[in-house]
Amino acid sequence: MIDLRSDTVTIPTAEMREAMGQATVGDDVYGEDPTVNALEERVAEILGKEAAMYMPSGTMTNQVAVRTHTEPGDEILIDENSHIYFYEAGGTAALSGVICSLISGERGVFGSKEMEAVISEKEPHTTIMRPVDLHLPRSKLVCLENTNNRGGGKVWPLEKLAEVEKTARANDLKMHLDGARIWNAAAALKVHETEIARYFDSISVCFSKGLGAPVGSALVGSDDFIMEARRFRKQFGGGMRQAGIIAAGALYALENNRIRLSEDHANAKSFANGLAEIKGIEINPEDVETNILIFSLTDMSSHEFSQRLSEQDTHMLPWDNTSIRAVTNLMVSEKQIPEVLEQIRKTLSG
Ligand SMILES: *Cc1c(COP(=O)(O)O)cnc(C)c1O
Repeated sequence: MIDLRSDTVTIPTAEMREAMGQATVGDDVYGEDPTVNALEERVAEILGKEAAMYMPSGTMTNQVAVRTHTEPGDEILIDENSHIYFYEAGGTAALSGVICSLISGERGVFGSKEMEAVISEKEPHTTIMRPVDLHLPRSKLVCLENTNNRGGGKVWPLEKLAEVEKTARANDLKMHLDGARIWNAAAALKVHETEIARYFDSISVCFSKGLGAPVGSALVGSDDFIMEARRFRKQFGGGMRQAGIIAAGALYALENNRIRLSEDHANAKSFANGLAEIKGIEINPEDVETNILIFSLTDMSSHEFSQRLSEQDTHMLPWDNTSIRAVTNLMVSEKQIPEVLEQIRKTLSG
């Protein structure tokens, strides 16, 4: 089976299970799980921040971050294609009671111009987003996503991060990064994760996607921020006990699988180059910056395509009626790419 539906499908390897089996554990709600503590220290160190908190999922991590930065009735600025807005079941409204003012970016990436478009709509004569006018919600936060999932794994250029941060600071806004795939962004830019994290007050990262751990994410930020966020993790039901068992998988993934993500990117690129040669498929390989690729079908519905492909035991998800999303991952090897391309040729010609 070749599974390109997502990078969440990865299964722990024997070595990772070994590390999990050996993990020393304690009660993490009491702060007594040595493996969770080691993971939190390590991930804070990699991102160049003071503290981190292990979390059950990326969704909960983002939602706890939004809750910690805001009060009900506040406003957050967020791209219309972001996971927090699009894929978290309305959590920002349900759990934090905030309104989302939507920024129209390009594959999830925007600049101060697009931010200011949202601001000036509200307050035509000023760029101050947190006006004293009591009619208006208080703007507290801007959320970015790197790489951008719905944008097909688009990476934020560092200059854009600097530009957005400048506008955010000028308007007294905090910066949150949904960095579920920050590892991929760093690998694609060939920079250390710190170079991305430095623009942000808080960052959520994921261990169970490209890194291949079975469970977990982390929220990273200052000591004060994480201390406050621990209260909301508990309130949202995310306090875990002997979580060292799963944290050991995350720690293993961080140390061993982070460095190999460029292999997934190379596989995605060669897959895209191969797809571009196939009649009935449209894709611009230059759009493929990391491990996610989205391609269009000109002669077959995406549902029929993915159905026929799955009969050959290769799996991809329809993105909309005419396009397909594929995500290279730890469990897909370089030599399987030509195999998949051959199956696709067969699917489209037969
Ligand atoms: C997957 C994902 C999440 C959520 O992670 P879960 O662990 O599935 O809740 C958040 N943000 C982005 C960009 C993601 O791709």
